[in-house]
Amino acid sequence: MNNRYQKAEILDMLKNTLQGYINLGIIEAECGARPSNKMLLQELENEVLECRKCPLYEGKKHYVFGEGSPDASLMFVGEAPGYYEDVEGKPFIGKAGQLLTKIIEAMGLKREDVYIGNILKCRPPKNRNPQEDEIEACFPYLNKQIEIIKPEVICALGKFAAQTLARTNISISNLRGKLFYYRGIKVVPTFHPSYLLRNSKGKRQTWEDMKYILKILGREIEKNG
Ligand code: SF4
Repeated sequence: MNNRYQKAEILDMLKNTLQGYINLGIIEAECGARPSNKMLLQELENEVLECRKCPLYEGKKHYVFGEGSPDASLMFVGEAPGYYEDVEGKPFIGKAGQLLTKIIEAMGLKREDVYIGNILKCRPPKNRNPQEDEIEACFPYLNKQIEIIKPEVICALGKFAAQTLARTNISISNLRGKLFYYRGIKVVPTFHPSYLLRNSKGKRQTWEDMKYILKILGREIEKNG
């Protein structure tokens, strides 16, 4: 048998062996191939869409899982969906959400570049504050989102997001301006956009926080710097 035929035979044997390993799922396991963040988030969202862990599921129109880049280096976390978010099933799309979009754009980013989520995935009645038992029931979903996305920075929007991630009862005014860590990830607390709609004085401090986030991310400030 000449060399060319020997090589072709060996290649055929290798091909058959590899196909066998693929069929048995051995190749995937050995190569360490893992599902993408997008797939993992989709799986988690499917779980949330069935959730009845707290009574909020009864009054909601839509679960609001979160949206944005599955590989974002910056994640914004708010407290809970409001009226418009509940109707559309998307986070931060009402007036406060529009302000958040402006803030993100002023940072030189787009909404699609970051990930936006909430502590609670269902709207509390009449936008009341989240209750402790609701936060406890829902927080594992956010924890998993953070675990999948692994952002470099989390911006905690308002009291409930900041207090939950920092595991503290300290007021947002005292948490703001301080950096803390959640499972090794930097967390920058700032005012919730809905607070800024009522108190424009907080906007300057919020912009300071955004500049700090950009610095952590190693990005140039493109506007209003
Ligand atoms: S708020 Fe969270 S824990 Fe409660 S039902 Fe909705 S998804 Fe489940």
